[in-house]
Amino acid sequence: ATPTAVMVATGVGANNGVLIKGGDALERAQKIKYVIFDKTGTLTQGKATVTTARVFVGMDLGEFLRLVASAEASSEHPLAKAIVEYARHFHFFDEPSAIKDAENNSKESISGWLFDVSEFYALPGRGVHCFINGKRVVVGNRKLITESGMAIPTDVENFVVELEESARTGILVAYDNSLIGVLGVADPLKREAAVVVEGLGKMGVRTVMVTGDNWRTARAVAKEVGIQDVRAEVMPAGKADVVRSFQKDGSIVAMVGDGINDSPALAAADVGMAIGAGTDIAIEAADYVLMRNNLEDVITAIDISRKTFARIR
Ligand code: ADP
Ligand code: MG
Repeated sequence: ATPTAVMVATGVGANNGVLIKGGDALERAQKIKYVIFDKTGTLTQGKATVTTARVFVGMDLGEFLRLVASAEASSEHPLAKAIVEYARHFHFFDEPSAIKDAENNSKESISGWLFDVSEFYALPGRGVHCFINGKRVVVGNRKLITESGMAIPTDVENFVVELEESARTGILVAYDNSLIGVLGVADPLKREAAVVVEGLGKMGVRTVMVTGDNWRTARAVAKEVGIQDVRAEVMPAGKADVVRSFQKDGSIVAMVGDGINDSPALAAADVGMAIGAGTDIAIEAADYVLMRNNLEDVITAIDISRKTFARIR
């Protein structure tokens, strides 16, 4: 395309909240064969909410939530925030006189209720680990529990499976080296997600979903959104390898993501598209920034490129 055509396309993009970082990315977008979507925060709203909490031992729910929220309070993960928020609601529900404080919507407002925590570690793609009252607390996925040398009782496993089959993520909680409870977290799809996946299909573009979440939840979410090709339980560093595996036969691959975890994959892709509400580091690694946080702009981006380069053929 002529420099003028590129300028026009960039302008059209900008008017639609699609920032295009350079003519090369603009040109590659017309040839995209695969669009790989991150799940959490990209296909989904990224607003995790706890929908269920079940205790499997003789501990009351309030104490259970206090323990879990204490362990998660130092984590920046969206799942951790959802858990702390849930515990906070529960705490203030039990003590209605404190409801005014709850409106401040901050973890400070329950910090006095939380336990002191030592040896806190966040384990990317797994969960968190710490000590409370001299006992080890482990909160995260199955992998983390088994790696920590604990068994998952059948009733707990069955409950987690039930959550996962309804597209929720099961978070397992262990205290003093045994499983004590499970939380179910839901993160709804973005409203436009399924329509966009269908639209890409009609344009001859194949769609893939990649996630650090477990296979069963991933498949349930993929089914809802209409994506057949799923890669789950991918460790944070592994998303870029997934991108490369699709590039092997020379296919042009786009990656759409929002998180810190996604930036190596955004950089590895032929066309990296960062969702505008995402983290700065993702935005930096991307060729396109979709400012409106709307997946329809993936289609807009490809359309602009196709139209720009069709004209001059
Ligand atoms: P995604 O690719 O969906 O953004 P992550 O790689 O961040 O996922 O996390 C993968 C999985 O690790 C989560 O689905 C969850 O099971 C577990 N996990 C990660 N961080 C936490 C946490 N702070 N608390 C509980 N579980 C966590
Ligand atoms: Mg994400």
